[in-house]
Amino acid sequence: MQEAVLGGRFLSIGECMVELSQAKDGHLRKGFAGDTFNTAWYARACLPTDWSIDYFTALGDDAMSDEMATFMGNAGIGTGYIRRLRGKTPGLYMINLKDGERSFSYWRDSSAARQLAADGDVLRTAIEASDVLYFSGITLAVLPREDAYTLLAELRRAKAIGKIVAFDPNLRPRLWSSLDAMHAMIAEGGRASTLALPSFDDEAAHFGDDSISSTIRRYRQYGTTMVVVKNGPDGATIGEGSDETLVPAVKVEKVIDTTSAGDSFNGAFLAHYLQHHDALAAAAFAAEIAAKVIQEHGALVSPEKLKSIQ
Ligand code: ADP
Repeated sequence: MQEAVLGGRFLSIGECMVELSQAKDGHLRKGFAGDTFNTAWYARACLPTDWSIDYFTALGDDAMSDEMATFMGNAGIGTGYIRRLRGKTPGLYMINLKDGERSFSYWRDSSAARQLAADGDVLRTAIEASDVLYFSGITLAVLPREDAYTLLAELRRAKAIGKIVAFDPNLRPRLWSSLDAMHAMIAEGGRASTLALPSFDDEAAHFGDDSISSTIRRYRQYGTTMVVVKNGPDGATIGEGSDETLVPAVKVEKVIDTTSAGDSFNGAFLAHYLQHHDALAAAAFAAEIAAKVIQEHGALVSPEKLKSIQ
């Protein structure tokens, strides 16, 4: 937590995990990643220092939790609101590479982050102290139903008093007990937010949307003011009022790793929008950052590599 910020206070809420990926000779490389954390990382990289970025989650009291919190702190992301739970550990996932195809194995069912909203007072304090809130469908999916409602109620309060609440539905059917449960809670997420940042391929696959306009319409019906629909190399469409404007993607000759394309787009979009209040310019900037990110390996590209993008 930082004091005396002039720009504003950004709070991202969710689960960060230990990431194991293959290194040379059968060794495993350890990292830390998770959708809402990745977005916090890119928001930090793109916002000036008068903005604070905090991550809200729960961690355990083991060495891995300590290391993760240190990693966040070293990245300039505040950890002051993170609850530490006795005897718990962070979630973990492994990236398996076979014949150039990536698949993921997860160990997250009993991660500390599942209890991130169990203490409503801590959650309220953090949200009240922040100007901009960010969460995702994955944040909602990993919470017990009752705690997800606690979080949503706090976010609706923030929205009601005029704060920006940004939501990436990040649809992951496997994390939900049923498709109906996912649909219902994603709608609740939309109701609690002012800005939705869905990915069209996910929305088409899991909500049956037949066009980008139908995705925009659905999130606006939930109650979001602005909808930014990401669509990979086909760009992003901003739905605001009755306008729908396509902002093209940046042409990338050789895609190396699309991990975090959407997360980095979100972080960069928000960083630009919060400073300049121009959604089209923010989407163009976010497309530049995402294009850079997919030309590098891994979820978290160092801020130095992004500096040249204005
Ligand atoms: P998600 O990772 O959430 O599925 P997308 O695949 O839609 O999100 O990608 C998010 C953003 O990343 C896009 O709006 C675009 O700016 C950029 N992007 C993704 N894939 C490509 C690509 N192949 N070429 C150029 N830009 C891309």
